Amino acid sequence: MKSLKVLALFFAGLAALLLAGCALLPSATPLKVLLVTGQSNKYHDWTKSSPLVKQYLEQTGRFTVDVTTTPPMGQDMSGFKPDFTKYKAVVMVYEGDEWPAATKAAFVEYMKKGGGLVSIHDADNAFPYWPEWNEMIGVGGWGLKPDGSMGARTNGSGPKIRWRDGKQVLDDSPGTAGHPARSDFLVVTRAPGHPIMQGLPAEWLHASDEIYSQLRGPARNVVVLATAMPDKVKYPKSSGENEPMLMTITYGQGRIFHTTLGHVGPKESAPYPALSCAGFIVTLQRGTEWAATGKVTQPVPADFPTAEKTSLRVATGN
Ligand SMILES: [Zn+2]
Repeated sequence: MKSLKVLALFFAGLAALLLAGCALLPSATPLKVLLVTGQSNKYHDWTKSSPLVKQYLEQTGRFTVDVTTTPPMGQDMSGFKPDFTKYKAVVMVYEGDEWPAATKAAFVEYMKKGGGLVSIHDADNAFPYWPEWNEMIGVGGWGLKPDGSMGARTNGSGPKIRWRDGKQVLDDSPGTAGHPARSDFLVVTRAPGHPIMQGLPAEWLHASDEIYSQLRGPARNVVVLATAMPDKVKYPKSSGENEPMLMTITYGQGRIFHTTLGHVGPKESAPYPALSCAGFIVTLQRGTEWAATGKVTQPVPADFPTAEKTSLRVATGN
């Protein structure tokens, strides 16, 4: 009898220990993410935006972020060959020199086999002559020409994506990338059932950013998650259309989250309002998890902006 009692006590103790152990474990193993950065055109500054992007992802507890920095613009890129296969998602804060052909091929292979990509603001300018990149981001703009001037993406780069009469349509009319002056603007949810968007407000005010407009590209396998419309009265040269701000794209088995938001200029000093907007931060965090896993487990925080009011967090980057 006594030994039975001891045995029962032993198992009760073991169960208690296991329960306590479970409570201490994180809800899920962090997802490994690679942030690729190191070059900006003259309008952006990766040294300011990249540390914040890393910080935003890591503060969720959902990700660990390795950073790979390319050589500076114009330097030898032949040694740039990160092992993408170690990561659940690759986050791009990069617009610069072409990668070596083998690195590009490895990235295409990684994506086709189910990799994840997050393309942030600056990266809309990247790789205008790389067809697979254009497929992955759906639509892009500007882009450096071989002579160093902007405007590699032209009317021939593919259609624009529009939101008209309650649905997503393609538009082949002329017009290449541009944006009105920075301002606060309303971001409108267009896919409320998508995992990235579930629980977000139907409309929210984003802080001091550029409404990327007239982006063009193959525009295949794109789902528009949210749009914004430049004010045609205030900015007569703007498109006056619902421009895609947040998108997902599928490429082979791969998933892409594309945010056009997140401008930081070279002369800007902290705080950086576009990057400090809780709306930018939360959609980046959720979009990265979706790109990595196809699901989103993060709750929507209480400080998410509303349709009436922007919501800024304190940026502590350099
Ligand atoms: Zn910008």
